[in-house]
Amino acid sequence: MSDTTSSQYTDRLDAIRDRARHLGIDHVVVYSGEDMAYVTGERIHSHERLTALVVPVSTGTPVLVVPSLELTELTRRAAGRISATTHPWTDGTDPVPLVLGLISGRVAVSGALPAQHLLPLQAGVEGEVVLASDVLDGVRAVKTPHEIDELAEAAHRIDAVHARMGEFLRVGRTEREVGELITRAIVSEGLEHAEFVIVGSGPHGADPHHEMSDRVVTTGDVVVVDIGGPLASGYHSDCTRTYSMGEPEPEVTEVYAALEEAQRRGREAVRPGAAIGEVDAAARESLAAAGLGEYFIHRTGHGIGLGLHEPPFAAPGATTVLEEGMAFSVEPGIYLAGRWGARLEDIVAVTADGRRDLNTGPRGLTVLDG
Ligand code: ZN
Ligand code: ZN
Repeated sequence: MSDTTSSQYTDRLDAIRDRARHLGIDHVVVYSGEDMAYVTGERIHSHERLTALVVPVSTGTPVLVVPSLELTELTRRAAGRISATTHPWTDGTDPVPLVLGLISGRVAVSGALPAQHLLPLQAGVEGEVVLASDVLDGVRAVKTPHEIDELAEAAHRIDAVHARMGEFLRVGRTEREVGELITRAIVSEGLEHAEFVIVGSGPHGADPHHEMSDRVVTTGDVVVVDIGGPLASGYHSDCTRTYSMGEPEPEVTEVYAALEEAQRRGREAVRPGAAIGEVDAAARESLAAAGLGEYFIHRTGHGIGLGLHEPPFAAPGATTVLEEGMAFSVEPGIYLAGRWGARLEDIVAVTADGRRDLNTGPRGLTVLDG
C-alpha cells in the first residue's frame, strides 16, 4: 500500500512509544483503518471483526490481534514491518479476552475503535482506558518530508482536475452529470479514486455539505466545486475552487475578492510556533472586517494525511502549536443562504520558516462559458 520503508514504520512506532511514555500510558491499542495504516502500512479492515495492534509502551513486542481469515500475506507483511507477532482469532470465539490479556495500566485506544469493542474492553481492563488522540494524532500530525511529498503529489493531481473544469462544468448539465465527469477525471489524473465530489451550483453553493443533485447548471450560477481523492499510498487531496458561469454580478466579484483576501491572510498566518487558532482568526477577522463574518459558518481548516480530515483543526481558539511538517487545509467560505456560496481551499504545509502551499492552481473566481 505504501512504498515507505520498514525503518520508517519502526520510526513511527518509536515515536508513538516515546509520546505514550511521556504521557504515562502503558499500552496503545491501534485500531484498523488510518491509524493501522500509519503504523503498519496496511489498513487491515475486517468489517465488524476486531482487528487491533496492541503496543506495549516500555518493553515487549507489539501484537497484532487479527481475525484468522485476515491472516494473509498482506497482514504478515504489515506485522513484519514492525516485528509484531500475530494472534489470530477464529469466528465463534471472543477476541476481547485475547486483547484483555495483553493490556494493563493506562491504555490508550484509537478514536476510531467502535463502541462495540471499546465497551467490553473498558469493562474488563484492570486500569484506565483513555483516547489515544494525544499519542497517535499527535505523532500523525507531524509529517515526514516523504509524507509531505506524497501530499504535494496528491495536491498536484487534484489541481490538474480543477485546471480542466471547463471540460466538465457546463451550462445545461446537472450537478450529477458534472460530478460524474469529475469523478472520472480524478482517476485519470492518477488518484486512486474520488473520495468525495461536491458540485454546489447557485443556491446549493450556500450549503457547505451539499454533494450534488439533479439541478441543472444555469447561466449566472456561482458554483462551488470541492473535490479530493487519495494516491495509491493513501495520502489525500482536498481542494475547492469557485466558478462563475459567465461574467459574475458585481456583488459576486466583490464578495469573492474578500474571500480570496481572507484565505490569503489565513495562509500567511501559517508558521512554526503560531497557534493554529491564529490561522482561523486571520481568515475570520478578514471576513469580519469586510462585513461578511456572519456568513462564514465553519472552522477554517483540518489536518490531512492518511485521513481526509484529521488533527490539527484550524478552529476558533484552537491552541495546537504549529510545527514543521504539519499539513492542513485553509478553506474559508461565504454562504448566503438561498442565494449562492463560495469557498476557497488549499492544503498548506508548515516549513522550518513559514509555509509551503501544496495546491498551486489559480485562486481567483474562474469564469467559465455561460
Ligand atoms: Zn474540501
Ligand atoms: Zn477540506
